Amino acid sequence: MKSYRNYINGRWVEAKSGRRTQSINPANGEVLGEVPLSGPEDVEEAVAAAREAFRSWRLVPAPKRGEILYRAAEILRERKEELARMLTREMGKVLPEARGDVQEAIDITYYMAGEGRRQFGHTVPAELPNKWAMSVREPIGVIAVITPWNFPVAIPSWKMMPSLVLGNTVVFKPASDTPILAAMLVEILEEAGLPPGVVNLVFGSGEEVGEALLRHPGVDMVSFTGSVESGVHVATMCAQHGLKRVSLELGGKNAIIVLEDANLDLALEGILWSAFGTTGQRCTACSRVIVQRSVAKKLEEMIAERAARLRLGDGLLETTDVGPLIHRRAVERVHRYVEIGRQEGARLVLGGEPAQEGELAKGSFYRPTVFADVRPDMRIAREEIFGPVLSLIPVDTLEEAIQVNNSVQYGLSSAIYTQDVNRAFTAIRDLATGIVYVNAGTIGAEIQLPFGGYRNTGNGHREAGQAALDAYSEWKSIYVDYSGRLQRAQIDNQ
Ligand code: NAP
Repeated sequence: MKSYRNYINGRWVEAKSGRRTQSINPANGEVLGEVPLSGPEDVEEAVAAAREAFRSWRLVPAPKRGEILYRAAEILRERKEELARMLTREMGKVLPEARGDVQEAIDITYYMAGEGRRQFGHTVPAELPNKWAMSVREPIGVIAVITPWNFPVAIPSWKMMPSLVLGNTVVFKPASDTPILAAMLVEILEEAGLPPGVVNLVFGSGEEVGEALLRHPGVDMVSFTGSVESGVHVATMCAQHGLKRVSLELGGKNAIIVLEDANLDLALEGILWSAFGTTGQRCTACSRVIVQRSVAKKLEEMIAERAARLRLGDGLLETTDVGPLIHRRAVERVHRYVEIGRQEGARLVLGGEPAQEGELAKGSFYRPTVFADVRPDMRIAREEIFGPVLSLIPVDTLEEAIQVNNSVQYGLSSAIYTQDVNRAFTAIRDLATGIVYVNAGTIGAEIQLPFGGYRNTGNGHREAGQAALDAYSEWKSIYVDYSGRLQRAQIDNQ
């Protein structure tokens, strides 16, 4: 069994406490490796290394920083299959989706490598004669990157690549459930030529390592992806400990709206992919279908028929459509929601129980589950379940569908199936989510556009695209007066 270590100041080191924990395959309980269980003393060293490295990394010309990322992207591409296979074993998603996770990391790494030669600022006319006005981006400093397990390669890359190309340094605390992928990603950054201290990796729990990062005065920004509960805590701590900048990407309760004029066969494909892909464990997963009443019964039958045929199993097998949940606690949590749905009076159409026959008993599997006659005020229609549970909510009009979509605390992704361009554009305008799809499911974001959500899905920042540069940099506005005399803005030119 392979043993992994923290990466601090360019060296692979044990946690000071010597404590260790294991990484487990959720499909079958296989032990994949051992990682350190670090504490605040390891965080101390990692932050000190990142602070020291920041002094020189911020002065490395951005095109050079971009070249290192370009090499990292090339190595990611070469090792894609190896990473994807480990990803399926450590996190559970089926192999084609694991390849997609790695591909997303490759895409953002190339994209941000290109930013080495862009990072545009503004040069604008000054209002006074003989005066120059421009703005440039500057790095923020040391960024703590705290990530979840559901996209263990893509999400850390979304955060680290823009941070690095802008000249920041990083302390990375990955999710406890997917440490090996984190080690592989950092190995690649090391091989690509990142100087010591620019990226540091500290394994350990949110309570110990995460908390220490939130409190540390040497951390300038926390970039966090996880649940709303954790996000509120992170934001509070960051406010109390030095008013750190904080970027939050939190939960979702995403809906697909199906209107009566929709191509139902197309909608069916989008619904199945969005609801049961990654076993429903995506922040953009579809967990609500808001359907016009006249086609509700037909769509319900189509979904039930197809979802019943989805095959559960180890994500490495070609025959598997749906992999395991991340661990047994997740199975219990999903099942609690199913019980709540029953008690609330929703009609269970399919699933509703863990899957334990044969080989499945070794892993954390839950049957694809569909509820019909769900009312928008039910808990299963409002709270993030993060599992393969879909609620069908009947409505009468497009306006009602949009109102139901917008009524939850989350606002990440939404979709509408219709063939009427007027209704499509009305929905594009009125759906209050950070991502809107027309005639496609709620998942499948591309890295060149901003990623994030309205309301409690975040705190206004965005990942990916040009928007990520705003999250991980400061703006500096510069005025050069070459008139040789005092010129007073807003006064002398009136
Ligand atoms: P989580 O429990 O909030 O954990 C996320 C990360 O925060 C983990 O690394 C965790 O460490 C750490 N953490 C936990 N408590 C902490 C604390 N007190 N201080 C500092 N760090 C702490 O979320 P999860 O279960 O891993 O992920 C699922 C959630 O993420 C869902 O709500 C999903 O919607 C959301 N998500 C959002 C996006 C997006 O872009 N909007 C993308 C993916 C996922 P441990 O692993 O050690 O607990």
